[in-house]
Amino acid sequence: MRSIAVANQKGGVGKTTTSVNLAVALARAGQRVCLVDLDPQAHATLHAGVQPGAHPVSSYDMLVEGRSLEEARVQAGERLHVIPSHIDLSAVEMALANRPGREGLLRQRIEGDAACRSGGVAAGADALVHDTMVIDCPPSLGLLSLNAMAAADEVLLPLQPHFLALHGLSKLLETMELVADRVNPRLRLLGVVLCMFESATRLANEVARDVEGFFASSHGNHPVWSEARVFQTRIRRNIRLAEAPSFGQSIFDYAPDSHGAEDYAALAEEVIQAAAVDRETVRRAA
Ligand code: ADP
Ligand code: MG
Repeated sequence: MRSIAVANQKGGVGKTTTSVNLAVALARAGQRVCLVDLDPQAHATLHAGVQPGAHPVSSYDMLVEGRSLEEARVQAGERLHVIPSHIDLSAVEMALANRPGREGLLRQRIEGDAACRSGGVAAGADALVHDTMVIDCPPSLGLLSLNAMAAADEVLLPLQPHFLALHGLSKLLETMELVADRVNPRLRLLGVVLCMFESATRLANEVARDVEGFFASSHGNHPVWSEARVFQTRIRRNIRLAEAPSFGQSIFDYAPDSHGAEDYAALAEEVIQAAAVDRETVRRAA
């Protein structure tokens, strides 16, 4: 299973919108997807059409109470499962304050789940399998984002192009390097996706160039993000994307002909391509 954490410690940059619509786009492209909501606000859960609290087992119960991924899993569409969040998750830091190995809890649950074990040899024809997991992170670099980074192979970073966009990026990269050093050596920055993009503005294009320049110039000795790309697909600002969550629908159900649907389908295509390219790089290096 491929696992992608959608992270940025800033709020309002497009993490949740990207997590949900990317997850659905991947499912529409034929992948079997599990969307994990690690934000206490539970916006991804709602956006995917699942009522927080309606399912008895949440991502909180999974992390803190030792419940399994299987118990927390809800089907939310064709080839799409959701691990719903719950407001309880806002107390996770306190609940786990004295728990040894508390950064590794999500990873443990994933390792204990048959549907997550890629290429499950023994899996029967109708056994549940996840090809890809998408993890929606909260707007902080606290314990929940650490759990996501400890569990994921890849981080996808949504950025909103305004003049402080690069500000805070180094903190995220530093945190990723720490996680890679200590608990998850596989962790890589998959790339940056520019969200709420307004191509008509000079600022958006300048920031896009800055971000590209940053990754082109300085990645030499940083294996964690040396292969990161800025995705060609820009997610344009589109009111339909802001409306869809309150209907509990992805952009593909809510407004299939919108720019939002077009952009997230294109992003999913790039994300799928990136996996193939990165596998090839690894094979050549071996
Ligand atoms: P985060 O999860 O990083 O806090 P969200 O995905 O919740 O960010 O996005 C913040 C707000 O902006 C939400 O109200 C969302 O509906 C809206 N939004 C996100 N992406 C777009 C877009 N491309 N165009 C218009 N509105 C967007
Ligand atoms: Mg969010």
